[in-house]
Amino acid sequence: MTSVSPHKKAKALKSTSRRPAKELCSECGLCDTYYIHYVKEACAFINQQIGGLEEETHKRSRDLDNENELYFGVHQDMIAARKQQPIEGAQWTGIVSSIAIEMLNRGLVEGVVCVQNTKEDRFQPMPVIARTPEEILAARVNKPTLSPNLSVLEQIEKSGMKRLLVIGVGCQIQALRAVEKELGLEKLYVLGTPCVDNVTRAGLQTFLETTSRSPDTVVHYEFMQDFRVHFKHEDGSSETVPFFGLKTNKLKDVFAPSCMTCFDYVNSLADLVVGYMGAPFGWQWIVVRNDTGKEMLDLVQDQLDTQPVMSQGNRKEAVQQSIPAYDKGVTLPMWAAKLMGVVIEKIGPKGLEYARFSIDSHFTRNYLYVKRNYPEKLAAHVPEFAKRIVGQYKLPE
Ligand code: FAD
Repeated sequence: MTSVSPHKKAKALKSTSRRPAKELCSECGLCDTYYIHYVKEACAFINQQIGGLEEETHKRSRDLDNENELYFGVHQDMIAARKQQPIEGAQWTGIVSSIAIEMLNRGLVEGVVCVQNTKEDRFQPMPVIARTPEEILAARVNKPTLSPNLSVLEQIEKSGMKRLLVIGVGCQIQALRAVEKELGLEKLYVLGTPCVDNVTRAGLQTFLETTSRSPDTVVHYEFMQDFRVHFKHEDGSSETVPFFGLKTNKLKDVFAPSCMTCFDYVNSLADLVVGYMGAPFGWQWIVVRNDTGKEMLDLVQDQLDTQPVMSQGNRKEAVQQSIPAYDKGVTLPMWAAKLMGVVIEKIGPKGLEYARFSIDSHFTRNYLYVKRNYPEKLAAHVPEFAKRIVGQYKLPE
């Protein structure tokens, strides 16, 4: 074995330099390392290549004629689950942190790429390679901002680690898969979460200030399956705001341009995905994409309550109506928003149909955004599965 790295290297960019993807950069961290050499192929926003990488990673492509695969990507199983003993302070019940801890404790991996926060700011991401369960636990809960998780990739090679778990969102994982062979690892495990509508740290502040009654005390929030944003505050109190009451006109420009052009909501290239949107309220949603993902999930099976995934309702009408409403930045008065929230919670889509509602709404919006702002990218950047999903709806010009 040679100690000299076989792959090509380039000098990492300074943090202030303009990124190759320009305004579409999602700050995944690749360009903060010498792996920037590969950015033109690896970047999810310069070279969308989900189809090819899916085949390489999962050994088969997504079956576009199977509705569940069309929407949720290559998978061998989907379940709803929650930890019997939730981890205090986790985003949901802490399934992600628990899997990572088991993998480390059982010696399957030597380190875990995850993201803690800085001392000064609970929402400022600080990617680390965790080597102890305590360091993994310190990374629990979402940092709901663009996070340069891949910025620690250079440290992996320097540390000599050969077995690694990476936790991350779709754009990070797409770039990671593209450089996977260059990392010198014997085994890479990838634990993904779905991700949508992410923001810069400054954008997050705008979101909190326009939406929460007390922006400075928010410790946790989630857009949940009951069509409400749930905020948790420092003093333990909670606050809910109906989706339909969000100040769409003010929030339209808050989301990062990368996220407005993203079609990898479900993290297609992870081995195992842990989210919530395909599960009943209060439960997490797990997508096992391949045998590696199954091996990871098996480690925590005895810590989980599980149930089969379910699907109820019909999203199509609600999605079609929301397209022009979003496009025009319509905001309902709060009483109407609350009423609409109650009605849609009773009769609206649930389980996998809720997940499809969310995917349809975001893909139609993002398709329009790419078409209007980057028409030259439309053909190559939008994956085939997303074109099919968007094709079910009538879009404004
Ligand atoms: P925990 O045990 O609390 O662990 C959370 C893990 O997330 C930690 O290991 C941490 O390293 C990692 N993490 C935190 N912030 C980031 C970040 N910015 N980038 C990369 N990794 C991060 N699920 C859905 O079903 N639908 C959604 O629309 C959706 N949007 C999301 C948006 C973002 C920005 C993120 C980070 C996650 C999103 N998820 C979504 C996933 C969901 O919110 C939970 O993270 C997931 O269910 C795991 O919960 P947990 O309690 O098991 O996680």
